[in-house]
Amino acid sequence: MLEKIQSKISAGERISKSDIIDLFNSYDIFTLGKLASQKAEEINGKRAFFVINRHINPTNICINRCKFCAFSRSKGEEGAYELTIEEILKKIHDANTNIENSIREVHIVGGLHPDWDINHYIKILSSIKREFPSIAIKAFTAVEIDHIARKSGLGIEETLLLLKKNGLDIMPAGGAEIFSKSTREQLCPEKISGERWLEIMEVAHTVGIKSNASMLYGHIETFEDRAEHLIKLRNLQDRTSGFQAFISLPYHPKNTQMGGYYSSGIDDLKTIAISRLALDNFAHIKAYWVMLGEKISQVALLFGADDIDGTIIEERITHSAGAVSGQSMKREELINLIRKANRVPVERDAFYNIIEEII
Ligand code: SF4
Repeated sequence: MLEKIQSKISAGERISKSDIIDLFNSYDIFTLGKLASQKAEEINGKRAFFVINRHINPTNICINRCKFCAFSRSKGEEGAYELTIEEILKKIHDANTNIENSIREVHIVGGLHPDWDINHYIKILSSIKREFPSIAIKAFTAVEIDHIARKSGLGIEETLLLLKKNGLDIMPAGGAEIFSKSTREQLCPEKISGERWLEIMEVAHTVGIKSNASMLYGHIETFEDRAEHLIKLRNLQDRTSGFQAFISLPYHPKNTQMGGYYSSGIDDLKTIAISRLALDNFAHIKAYWVMLGEKISQVALLFGADDIDGTIIEERITHSAGAVSGQSMKREELINLIRKANRVPVERDAFYNIIEEII
């Protein structure tokens, strides 16, 4: 079965939905890894990217209760928090002074706060830009953008343009989960639909905001759901070229309503490899070490990934759901991890401009 798909890939043909399903059903991970690695090398050579970044989750207060989420709280509930602008600025300031190299990117995602409208988000962005003009701001998932627009009585384009004007540089990948309507309804019934997520990303790309894309896997979805999800992302990328990287996010079950199991290492590697093969119009496939763990991320560099994300410093969302990885990695640790996979470490900025190729 793999031979037929293999010849398609070698001939430069695009793989179909049924090919993707067949690949997920295959356990020949060595052939898959080899094919995906060849594809990654065609695009990025032996380079593996990382970024000096800082994650910030401004609040865990959220009007939704997605069944896979262990992060959200109601207002007033034990463990609920909201950071002030001063606290956010202090976190960036501390990261920038404690880390040996300058922070290039701040990544901001949080809950759908019932009271915050666009003015609050503008204040977050403009305060960061005023104090740290050289740091790129990657902020607010399509789900948050939809919420901000609704809270503020604005359209999506208007919301995005206002946020862009005040400092939003790029959008993160989150909120895509799995697009399949029936699966999504079981996972996160209150969340915007997959179609709406795609629509918001299309508007963002059209107004000049690049973004990443993601897929949450390893819960109740089928291989058909995964294939459909990847094809929808590929179709949008054909139209806009606005996605910088794809990130497959393994489900973490701890403290969630849904429970269940962690994804397997085999599934993690297969999903990275198949993403690399299916998303032939994406420049980068990220193995996000916080969710995959440091070691699987490293092995993923031989299965089609070319990026392991960054220093992170503090991460609350995946760790609420039982992530076993650390919260932070130093620049030297990221370099060492990449080198030991026989890849060339490349420090990048938020837009994949090369800061330094470390030979
Ligand atoms: Fe809220 Fe996001 Fe958690 Fe869903 S995944 S409950 S939208 S914080």
